[in-house]
Amino acid sequence: MVKYVIEFNRDACIGCGACEKACDNWVIQEDGKSKPKKAELDEVGCNKDAADICPVACIKINEKK
Ligand code: SF4
Repeated sequence: MVKYVIEFNRDACIGCGACEKACDNWVIQEDGKSKPKKAELDEVGCNKDAADICPVACIKINEKK
């Protein structure tokens, strides 16, 4: 069941790759910016690590209402 939704400010992403290293749900795309494979999550898992490590804090994880 989807319990969490990733809110990602892609404009703010600087393409540092930290999220990709921290969590396999995050992949740097051809344009140099990251993107989550899945934006709707059953479990937060390593996405929390990605959010915590992002230097520009452009990853947020919200509980689905
Ligand atoms: S850690 Fe943040 S700034 Fe770095 S690639 Fe991931 S989303 Fe972009």
